[in-house]
Amino acid sequence: MSAAASRFAAALSLALTAGCAAPVPPALPDAACVAIASDFGRDDDMNGDRRSGLHGGIDFKAPRATPAIAAAPGTVVELQSNPNTRGGLAVVIHHGNAPDGREIWSYYGHLEDFRTAVGEKVSRGQIVGLVGNTGWSMPKWRHFHLHFEVYARAPDAGRRSIVNPHALWFPLGQAGRRIGPAAEAKDSGDAGFSGFTHPLPCDGWKSSAAGAISAR
Ligand SMILES: [Zn+2]
Repeated sequence: MSAAASRFAAALSLALTAGCAAPVPPALPDAACVAIASDFGRDDDMNGDRRSGLHGGIDFKAPRATPAIAAAPGTVVELQSNPNTRGGLAVVIHHGNAPDGREIWSYYGHLEDFRTAVGEKVSRGQIVGLVGNTGWSMPKWRHFHLHFEVYARAPDAGRRSIVNPHALWFPLGQAGRRIGPAAEAKDSGDAGFSGFTHPLPCDGWKSSAAGAISAR
């Protein structure tokens, strides 16, 4: 394990064992933010095997029980709880409308457990579940990972469709994806969807939500 990975593991273990009154975990290294095991649109999986179709999301490799965090503020609209479906345990969050009028959702699949409930309003960075390997993640893919998928629906469209998450990182139109003061400032008021930050803990992730792990 690299030094960065080892620091990440230590920080994570702190975050996971901490109670409500726990101090804010130390900043996590960026390496944890870019561990893409299989990117959007690929026709092979993280083992190099051919997929049955193009990959509809991004697979982020992460240690078991890493917090999966809301990539933007929104409302939890669905918990998929059948571990044997393709995505396994999954959370769907509705984020409202982007500046171009499209309605936006995000999906977090292969979770080990939930840390939210349908109807809950979640803030950016709030823990919604724990990374696992439910669904079609095992036994073929022996890697714990988060499948992060994004849907959008144009104002005149009947149904939502899968879109490339890379086009919607915060700030919109740029490549940034960190949680930080800029992203948080955009979250105040009803500014609508302003872009996704990373769905896993990154540098700058403070866990106001760390307490949620033990609180639920
Ligand atoms: Zn995937």
